Amino acid sequence: MKNKVTVVGSGNWGSVAAKLIASNTVRLSSFDDEVRMWVFEEKLPSGEKLTDVINRTNENVKYLPGIKLGKNVVADPDVESAVKGANMLVFVSPHQFMEGICKKLVGKIGKDTEGISLVKGMEVKKEGPCMISTLISKTLGINCSVLMGANIANEIALEKFSEATVGYSKNKEAAEKWVQLFGTPYFIVSAVQDVEGVEMCGTLKNIVAIAAGFVDGMEMGNNTKAAIMRIGLKEMIKFSKMLFPSVKDSTFFESCGVADLITTCLGGRNRKVADAYAKNQGKRSFDQLEAELLNGQKLQGVLTAKEVYEVLSDRGWVEQFPLFSTVHAISIGRLPPSAIVELGDSRSANK
Ligand code: NAD
Ligand code: 13P
Repeated sequence: MKNKVTVVGSGNWGSVAAKLIASNTVRLSSFDDEVRMWVFEEKLPSGEKLTDVINRTNENVKYLPGIKLGKNVVADPDVESAVKGANMLVFVSPHQFMEGICKKLVGKIGKDTEGISLVKGMEVKKEGPCMISTLISKTLGINCSVLMGANIANEIALEKFSEATVGYSKNKEAAEKWVQLFGTPYFIVSAVQDVEGVEMCGTLKNIVAIAAGFVDGMEMGNNTKAAIMRIGLKEMIKFSKMLFPSVKDSTFFESCGVADLITTCLGGRNRKVADAYAKNQGKRSFDQLEAELLNGQKLQGVLTAKEVYEVLSDRGWVEQFPLFSTVHAISIGRLPPSAIVELGDSRSANK
């Protein structure tokens, strides 16, 4: 039986993921050509539904304008019908919507289904932090790998060379299938057996990107930005290992680690909105700036800083993570953007 793939999500990266996958399913005989893509339905200014426009034009005119997705991509606004018959599910939604999406899919998924999460973020529950791949696998009872990397979607849409990392826990065969499904000559994918390490990298770099945006907005220069990225990387490594002792050092040298940190701090949306926040000296909120600058796309870093701060407070770790804590305090207006270079003993994460 052929593998059948559904992409659960259709934002900027979701649409590019569908395009990458669709270019491979038509080429590889072990996959059904058709790729379903679940769309969170919305009406466009023209009055038309986004799903109808995607299916008519083969373009996600709102989240990825100007790029053809491949004629074998079929948009579907009903998540249950979109996943029907699929045995490979690619989850790619802003992390704050993932719990609701998973709840809708309970009982609708075949037991041999494999999942992969491209979602960068975490949930914090009363019991403690829960990575999105864990949320997926626990709610739906399926194995879930992750794919993270230095992957600014608009660049990959233009087929510019880049790399990504698949993280898996036990099922190496499934990881190899994901590598095959995503990999192209311009998108080089490799797999590592460290699902927590890969997912923590993708999640935490968004907090550092907010800090980098503050530095840019205050025109503090390249050395300051590099210092913030270095301190941020140290905190990423330390926090990941404190939560998951199995996380490997080598993972931080993969595309999901230092490479994603660099690209997001140079060209990502978190950086862009934090830059505007600092230029406005905190007078316009992140929510306002996100709506003004991103046309419906969503930031992950501000929410992730809040979620990580909850974990730090709960465990008495705040002093050990001055950059993460300061990003949260600035983004809720408790400190001014200039506080990003007043971290006190910013070497704490080295200890
Ligand atoms: P996006 O931010 O471009 O788009 C937002 C999406 O959320 C849209 O599809 C919108 O329809 C949907 N949405 C809005 N309200 C919703 C609701 N109430 N319920 C469900 N969906 C709703 O999305 P994206 O860029 O595809 O990001 C998805 C994930 O991929 C994020 O975790 C992000 O960090 C990660 N990622 C993004 C990029 C990138 O360059 N865009 C690269 C790598 C990873
Ligand atoms: P932003 O969400 O900040 O644009 O980052 C995109 C990304 O994750 C690149 O790998």
